[in-house]
Formats: sequence, structure tokens, C-alpha cells
Amino acid sequence: MSGGGRGPIVVAIDGPAGSGKSSVSRATARELGFRFLDTGAAYRAVAWTALERDVDVDDADAVRAVLTDFPYRVVAAPSGERIAVGEADVTEAIREPRVTAAVSAIARVPEVRLALTEVFRDQIRATTDPGIVVEGRDITTVVAADAEVRILLTADEDVRIARRAAELPPDAAATADALRQRDAADARVVDFLTAAAGVATVDSTHLDFEATVAAVVALVRERTA
Ligand code: C5P
Repeated sequence: MSGGGRGPIVVAIDGPAGSGKSSVSRATARELGFRFLDTGAAYRAVAWTALERDVDVDDADAVRAVLTDFPYRVVAAPSGERIAVGEADVTEAIREPRVTAAVSAIARVPEVRLALTEVFRDQIRATTDPGIVVEGRDITTVVAADAEVRILLTADEDVRIARRAAELPPDAAATADALRQRDAADARVVDFLTAAAGVATVDSTHLDFEATVAAVVALVRERTA
């Protein structure tokens, strides 16, 4: 998939909620002229579809049934990529708190993880840019465990909560609770809080956004020189 000069350079980035993973990965991709793949968007789209169909997300059989009709599409647009399920543009809807609250339950269903992992690997293979930055929870360990560059982006929990509260005012206490609960639920499925062997850790606790992007870009350049 990514070795031997065939296919795009793959930069795999994992980390918890509020680590700045998504914006840092997007900016890194832009700076390097690479594609950006947000894998959380696909998990959110499954959760959105389940909610749309009144599926109980804690019922694994019902969640598995959602996959049998899940026309997920990433659509290129002048303003950036859009996320669609069938004809519905869900780019904004998948960020709603009701979807965020439901997503961990669907992400723990093994068949969902297997199906989405195949979708991501297809997207990586189809990349025509020189590289792709893939961001999520299990990219360094499962989806692209053989990536040229593998990074765990972390930050202390209080810093992550403060950043998320700044993004999603006004209820900071509820934001903190939601973030803690989601990380705890997600960490039971995939360990994204400790770096696997060969994975570089970038701790952004004391770095601002630009410095974090610079650190990630420097790592990519060093590993692919
Ligand atoms: O990154 P984001 O917060 O958008 O991810 C939403 C959810 O999708 C996470 O809370 C997690 O449950 C799930 N996820 C996952 N594996 C990934 C990416 C996201 O389980 N690679």
C-alpha cells in the first residue's frame, strides 16, 4: 500500500478528542500538498444514518443492519470535501452533539470497524496526490500500520478540554463531561492514548497551533527525506 515507492506517502495520525488532531492534520496536508482523510467523519456518518433510521445505537445487530445500506461518499467541492450519505449532504450534521454522543456506541461494533477500515484503505490506494494524511484513532495501529510516518498527537486533558470548550461554547462543563466520556468509551475499543512501537509522540500541551503543525511537518520531512 505505501512502501517501495509505490502509492502515496502515508502519514498516520492518531489521538484523543480535543488534541487538535483534525485541524493539525488538515494544515499539515495543505502544507505538504497531500490529501487529507478524516476517518472520524465516516464513523460519524454511520452514527448519523443510524439516528436518521431510529436505530438504537446500543443494539449491535441493528447497527450492523445499517451497514447493508450505507451509501457513504466523499465528494470534492470548491470549498473542500463534502461528506454525503446517499443524496444527503451531512458535512455539518455529523458534527451535531447528538451524533457526537452516539458515535462511540457504533464505533465499538467490530463489523463497523472492519467495513470502514476497508473504505479507508481504498481511499488511501486511490490517492493521486504524492501523499495522504490519515487521521483517527486506529490509523497508526490498524488502518495504516505500515505507514511511512506514524504519529500520536497528545495533549494534557485540561488543555484538550479548554480547546474544545473554546470551539463549542457556551456550556464548558457539559463539553468537558462529553469529552471525558467519549475518550473513556473510545479507549475501551482502541488504545489511542499510548504510542505503539515505532509511533512518534507529538505532545501539543505547550505548543500553539502553528508550532504543532511545524513539529508534525518536520517529522514527516525527516522520515521521508
Ligand atoms: O475524530 P472524531 O472525533 O470526529 O471521531 C468521532 C468518533 O469516531 C470517535 O469518538 C470514535 O468513536 C470514532 N473513531 C474511531 N476510529 C477512528 C476514527 C474515529 O473509532 N479511526
